[in-house]
Amino acid sequence: MKKNQISRRRFLSATSTTAVAASGLLARFKPAAAMTGKLAITGGAPVRTKKWPIWPNWYAEVENPLLAMFRTGNWFRGSGEHVAEFEKAYAAMMGSRNCLATASGTTALMTALHVLGVDAGDEVIVSPYTFIASYNVVFLLKALPVFCDTDIDTMTMDPKTIAPRLTERTRAILPVHILGLPVDMDPVLEIARRHNLVVVEDACQAWLAEYKQKKCGTIGDLGCFSFQNSKHLPAGEGGAIIGNNEIMVDRCHSFHNCGRPFGTSKGDSAYYMRASNFRMQQSQAIILMSQMKRLEKDTQIREQNARYLKEKLQHIPGIHPYKLNDGVTRAVFHLFPFRYVQQEFDDIPREKFLQALQAEGVPCSSGYGPQYRDGLIEEALNSRGYQRLFSKSRLKRYREELVLPQNDRLCRESVWFTQNLLLGSQADMDDIVHAIQKIYEQRSELSRS
Ligand SMILES: *Cc1c(COP(=O)(O)O)cnc(C)c1O
Repeated sequence: MKKNQISRRRFLSATSTTAVAASGLLARFKPAAAMTGKLAITGGAPVRTKKWPIWPNWYAEVENPLLAMFRTGNWFRGSGEHVAEFEKAYAAMMGSRNCLATASGTTALMTALHVLGVDAGDEVIVSPYTFIASYNVVFLLKALPVFCDTDIDTMTMDPKTIAPRLTERTRAILPVHILGLPVDMDPVLEIARRHNLVVVEDACQAWLAEYKQKKCGTIGDLGCFSFQNSKHLPAGEGGAIIGNNEIMVDRCHSFHNCGRPFGTSKGDSAYYMRASNFRMQQSQAIILMSQMKRLEKDTQIREQNARYLKEKLQHIPGIHPYKLNDGVTRAVFHLFPFRYVQQEFDDIPREKFLQALQAEGVPCSSGYGPQYRDGLIEEALNSRGYQRLFSKSRLKRYREELVLPQNDRLCRESVWFTQNLLLGSQADMDDIVHAIQKIYEQRSELSRS
């Protein structure tokens, strides 16, 4: 224990002076000589045994309003005010004119794409480095998700790879502000304008993130959010669509409520459009109103810790933290990502590095894989529906063009920390840095283990 403390102090003094640029990282990196404790994975003491902040958090303030609502029996949005209240508050927080709450982020995306005209047989440009729901919503509308490549440094869609993938059937672009890192939106919007495409932002990991001072979700035609349990604004399940076009958001409302007229569509007949039931419940809205009070402060803590962690980690050979796109004014870190480059780390496989890091008491994962090779694409393309909707030659070309070298590489190299780790103190971040540096210094031991 004492030995650990000493080495940690020495380590901090060795790394805290490294304030400058990204050049000559190898030369700049000075291992702390004292850090000789055995790796936890080979039986040594872990750097950390303390627990990390838990997620989600429950606040007693919601218990009375929740109980009161449950006792009335008015549980669904149509019999109370809570969901509409949340929509108003969320729109205000996001700086958007309109908001519709939904059952989930997935149903928010489906609603937005459908209302903006994505139909059977259309094509949608999608980022491949994302939660699987971004693919699924396109498939559920019987459209074709066409993947552009990922920029390996920013981990977001690479706009340069969009144009070659457009066809006369392309209807929409679905940029994903993945991990809370905003997409380079200007070139995306420019392509959309030039080719008359709609833009639906998947901001399901990007509450309060900003590009050029504009909140993610307010930049495209419609923006979609998730309030699932793991998200920064959790309610078990839940989602939202925001947008400045009232007619569009009212149509989203109709679509999510069995096709009933709403707002600007009042006066239409009782069921004027194909639709579904994607409604949020009152209980979710009550929980969200309470969670929302913490979002800004939590976001600031994550931001500060992420910046600190990046500054420290970028000096360790083989560790390449995310870069932000030019124009990003705020990233919100649903996850903290870096690339682990095996060749710069004594050729130790990522899996072994992850195991060693976990053993040191730092939870981590490898993030998204190349999901487009997991079977769902072929399952869809071989279905009767897709065989009818797309020509044989189109599907053949689609398969041939499923070449995503940057994304494949990112999937092989990425390492993530979940957002709750970033809610800790600066000393908690030092534990992470310390653990990685310890592994680096004793990489030959790890290599042999
Ligand atoms: C969580 C998430 C979704 C889906 O949200 P659900 O509420 O789980 O349906 C969509 N896209 C991304 C990027 C997500 O992280």
